[in-house]
Amino acid sequence: MKKIQMVDLKGQYNGIKDVVNHSIQEVIENTSFINGPKVHEFQKNLEQYLGVKHAIPCANGTDALQIAMMGLGLKPGDEVITADFTFAATVEVIALLQLTPVLVDVNEDDFNINIEAVKKAITPRTKAIVPVHLFGQCANMEAIMQIAKAHNLFVIEDNAQAIGASYTYKNGNKIKAGAIGHVASTSFFPSKNLGCYGDGGAIFTNDDNLAHTIRGIVNHGMYERYHHDVVGVNSRLDSIQAAVLDAKLPHLDNYNKARQNAAKKYSKAFEDYENIIVPKISNDCSEICDTSCDCHVFHQYTLKIKDIDRDALVKYLNEHNIPCGVYYPIPLHNQKAYRDERYNEDDFKVTNQLVKEVISLPMHTELDDEQIAYITSTIIKFING
Ligand SMILES: *Cc1c(COP(=O)(O)O)cnc(C)c1O
Repeated sequence: MKKIQMVDLKGQYNGIKDVVNHSIQEVIENTSFINGPKVHEFQKNLEQYLGVKHAIPCANGTDALQIAMMGLGLKPGDEVITADFTFAATVEVIALLQLTPVLVDVNEDDFNINIEAVKKAITPRTKAIVPVHLFGQCANMEAIMQIAKAHNLFVIEDNAQAIGASYTYKNGNKIKAGAIGHVASTSFFPSKNLGCYGDGGAIFTNDDNLAHTIRGIVNHGMYERYHHDVVGVNSRLDSIQAAVLDAKLPHLDNYNKARQNAAKKYSKAFEDYENIIVPKISNDCSEICDTSCDCHVFHQYTLKIKDIDRDALVKYLNEHNIPCGVYYPIPLHNQKAYRDERYNEDDFKVTNQLVKEVISLPMHTELDDEQIAYITSTIIKFING
């Protein structure tokens, strides 16, 4: 059996080595390292793939979120609602811009931002909602867009974990994650579903004016060379990273399919174990999608374990050469940097419980049946004592 890894970037590279090498080599040969033709090509291909009018590549997913918020003109003191159960980058940029983060609880079944909690958190100072499409599936965007419309709020999708996923509306309309809100961000961190070989990110919007504003912000607030109209940042996607991404983009759907297949096999193996709760697909479109269902692209495959000693399980898995992860072990509202006396523990019941129960299994495009069978049987052996 191949050694099991949380993410197998080398195995994936081996399958596309020639194209990637050639694409990188081209950049080196023409030395167009910054804003070269590869960046533009990738941008166009990404826009087409997502069905979004504008993609603006940038240096990483955290910058993408920050720049999206800067582009919307959010001001210090504006309240921005986001999920308590996510990677810290989301809340970090809100705080960095001196906006006021308002963390809210998530759903027990799909780990995404809870709609009732969002409604409850709205005040006259609320300016935006940042739903995070956690672990590979969309937050309840139909409800979020409705709330935003009713209260005149911006919606910024944090799509770092769900690129390639779609959201299905009740009427059957499907839109790709990242093309739904007023603006969206994504990350091309190597382990993300579409990863480059360093840092990378992008911002998406269908709004022409906002796209224009953002294109200036990523490049020192310049709309005309050496004319700085707004305070910007230096956040560009390297041409070499764009070359890697452009070579990988045509494979993204197949990569996501491989993740879905692995997830299906994991879930099948655990179906008879009531103390192992497998991930739920809450925006399930399988009844209307005849061939391929892309409502969950499994950035992570995350179990909830009930009445099981998680530390002991992690140790057992590690002893059997199975890596695993706990995403995320501490609620953001309890992190030193983001504590706020206005928070009340009773408002975070679900997150407080999830941080004790979640465990993520190896998930990547190269997992084979032998590895999956070994991982699942080892977990079952532990459960059965
Ligand atoms: C990875 C990630 C980010 C940040 O992306 P970077 O490219 O690492 O800066 C932001 N939000 C979420 C939910 C992420 O998973």
